[in-house]
Amino acid sequence: MSFASNARAEMARKLCAERCCARAELAAALLAPGAVSYRFGGAFRYGLSVTTSEAAVVRHYFQLLKRHFGVAAQIRTLRGGSLRSATRYQLLIPDEAADMLLRESGVYDPNEPFGLRVTPPEALMDYACCKKSFLKSAFMLGGGIANPEHGYHLEIAASSEEFADFVIKILNYFEIHAKKTCRKSKFVVYLKRSDDVCDALTLMGAPQAMLALQGVRVKKDVSNRVNRQLNCDGSNINRAMETALRQIEDIRVIEDQLGLDKLPAPLREIAEARLANAEASLTSLGELLVPPLGKSGVNARLRRLREIADALRGGGEVKL
Ligand SMILES: [Zn+2]
Repeated sequence: MSFASNARAEMARKLCAERCCARAELAAALLAPGAVSYRFGGAFRYGLSVTTSEAAVVRHYFQLLKRHFGVAAQIRTLRGGSLRSATRYQLLIPDEAADMLLRESGVYDPNEPFGLRVTPPEALMDYACCKKSFLKSAFMLGGGIANPEHGYHLEIAASSEEFADFVIKILNYFEIHAKKTCRKSKFVVYLKRSDDVCDALTLMGAPQAMLALQGVRVKKDVSNRVNRQLNCDGSNINRAMETALRQIEDIRVIEDQLGLDKLPAPLREIAEARLANAEASLTSLGELLVPPLGKSGVNARLRRLREIADALRGGGEVKL
């Protein structure tokens, strides 16, 4: 199962306890594209159905209708025509229940075209619990989330721009920053920041998915930090090695052109120590001397060796 499937299934497992939240969930489900069909003439004006690719999600709405609205819906499996197309599940709602459910969800409004609103009435969304339920329902039916290994992205499909703005307004209420875009003439609300994606998963009732995402984020942070540290240590080591090699080069020049035994004892001492310990730091080089010498003392002697070597290279007079 994909990360998105798991998140949707996790949300679907929990049925809301309050009727206010059940109405908010129902509103989001009926406002999803294709949920309501309008019929001209006949005994029933509206036909309702909920379609999803997730078995857990279709069961969720089946239970929701039964427990909170006393409606016995029917689950139908829609098999794809070819092997590759996924199975879909449809919840068929009895025509007799359509008017009642449209009123309960607040989607019915005689003043709107065809008697249908495109967003739920504000009054239905007064409580934070209902706002969360609405988001959860909109996500279960029209939401997606990228596998966090590949990036942070959560989105909710919107049946209209007004619906997209409504979803953004609810997300903003919870201090989650969302944007909308139009993709193939369909509106999508999306979140990109990992904090926002985590917060959204939590309030939509998918703490397991949130923890999984955080786990990936921590792993990524740690490996980024380790890589940065390694690169940093690597460049320090390289710099120290380059300096040591330059010092050895200086000492070789002196050895060839002058002879180390011509050097004053303190300089000869450090030159021999460096030749024998190419990888030693200045501090540990100083500790090899008798008596031991501090880092700045070592540095001063090596600098003096450099001056002598430079003088020799230039063919100038060497003052010891
Ligand atoms: Zn509620």
